[in-house]
Amino acid sequence: MGKPTGFLEIERRDRGYEKPEARLKHWREFVQPLGLDKSREQASRCMNCGIPFCHTGCPVNNQIPDWNDLVYRDQWKTALENLHSTNNFPEFTGRICPAPCEAACTLNIVETPVTIKTIECEIIDRGYSEGWVAPQLAPAKTGKKVAVIGSGPAGMACSQQLARAGHDVTLFEKNDRIGGLLRYGIPDFKMEKHHIDRRMKQMEAEGVSFRTGVEVGKDVTLDQLRGEYDSVVLSGGAEQPRDLDLPAHNYEGIHFAMDFLTQQNKRNAGDAEDVAAPNGSTISAKGKHVVVIGGGDTGSDCIGTSNRHGAASVVQLEIMPAPPEKENKALTWPNWPLKMRTSSSQEEGVDRDFAVLTKRAIGTDGKIEAIECVKVDWEGGKLREIPGSEFQLKADLVLLAMGFVGPRKAPLIEGLDVDPRGNVKADMTAYATSQSGVYACGDMRRGQSLVVWAIREGRQCAHAVDKALMGKTDLPR
Ligand SMILES: Cc1cc2nc3c(=O)[nH]c(=O)nc-3n(C[C@H](O)[C@H](O)[C@H](O)COP(=O)(O)OP(=O)(O)OC[C@H]3O[C@@H](n4cnc5c(N)ncnc54)[C@H](O)[C@@H]3O)c2cc1C
Ligand code: SF4
Repeated sequence: MGKPTGFLEIERRDRGYEKPEARLKHWREFVQPLGLDKSREQASRCMNCGIPFCHTGCPVNNQIPDWNDLVYRDQWKTALENLHSTNNFPEFTGRICPAPCEAACTLNIVETPVTIKTIECEIIDRGYSEGWVAPQLAPAKTGKKVAVIGSGPAGMACSQQLARAGHDVTLFEKNDRIGGLLRYGIPDFKMEKHHIDRRMKQMEAEGVSFRTGVEVGKDVTLDQLRGEYDSVVLSGGAEQPRDLDLPAHNYEGIHFAMDFLTQQNKRNAGDAEDVAAPNGSTISAKGKHVVVIGGGDTGSDCIGTSNRHGAASVVQLEIMPAPPEKENKALTWPNWPLKMRTSSSQEEGVDRDFAVLTKRAIGTDGKIEAIECVKVDWEGGKLREIPGSEFQLKADLVLLAMGFVGPRKAPLIEGLDVDPRGNVKADMTAYATSQSGVYACGDMRRGQSLVVWAIREGRQCAHAVDKALMGKTDLPR
């Protein structure tokens, strides 16, 4: 604890945003860094609690009080080594993590948590600008071969850890670029993609081979890989979107969020303006009345993307009732509280409505023109339509952002045991699936989640694979 009175003397300050009018004109990140001196000042607010709840609130168990202290003492390089010891990709989490650590921070009891995520981001950004992030080569090769399938944060973390343990790792990805949802789900304005390219270069230097454009189960079978490699890790994500049982669902103008978001991410990456979405169509929100169904992260990303296209209006519907403006800390802290949150994309312009059920698509000549909705209440946890509350919303584009129900079933995971939710069955110690030598981690194992959980599972799975291959492991869990 660098400064015992820091939390008493210094007010919480966090990164600012470029103004909405300005940031809506481009696709770049718009968060304005705090800078080294202000970050040091903020780090001095950390109380180095006897029980650091931030540390357990963080899924990768970042040693937050330790690196807060190091930052305050201007020992940035040591802070980076500490941060990297628990998190392979702090530049991802420093940008897009919802920061459960800050919800768990003791100072959050009085609404002024340490700006942990901002300090994390400053440490790694400084690390890159100083040239401190270098490949970490394995001291010796093991001669073992591992195939990792799916290059999202779970597959990337798992591959990097296994390569550092000396294994020959090949990372298979069905898309044309690596990164999973970091690449094609999350928009550039939340995280620019050069962050992934930079890590990919580091991983290549550490010995990871990348095979993009290869769908395992179709272009090569799981059995073929099992024959060729000593172990196979499945980190294919939870890609099956939740659908809406809507009469006239097949109207032109109704799309899954990921079709819309992937297409824009491809345009931003330099692909043709009319690049087709995975469903074969070219989708634009320009001049359209957009309705986003689903109130989570994916819905927010659709709002930010629609507004950058120049949508005429954007409405977001959520089936659940509006959460409370403020949580009851006595009941929720140090856990992640349910409360009203406004994302930066929602701040840029959207009408939000809660407790709304979408009933029917309305259109002519096969094109969507409006949707019919009804207000609902949730008495005793049961959904009930409120009679007489039906209404229509004008809609030229409807984006379905209601989350994901699990991994796509065929052909990769058929033949493997799944849990009751349809995810690949494996525990969080051995990460072993029902087939010998085959492991699973990330959203494919735990279901739709967060980048930080994917990194944690990738790291822990690498530990389990290394231990099974070598009989012991030095990789951290
Ligand atoms: C739009 C959107 C926004 C989000 N925003 C946030 C956010 O702000 N913060 C946050 O923490 N989390 C966010 N999330 C969640 C987060 O992105 C995921 O939890 C995380 O990416 C899961 O990582 P993963 O590696 O398990 O899977 P994924 O990132 O889904 O990667 C899986 C990869 O496997 C590949 N694959 C699948 N099957 C095969 C196969 N058969 N052969 C080869 N490759 C295959 C896929 O193409 C994909 O690239 C968001 C999710 C979405 C959809
Ligand atoms: S809970 Fe907050 S104040 Fe306490 S050690 Fe963690 S970051 Fe510092």
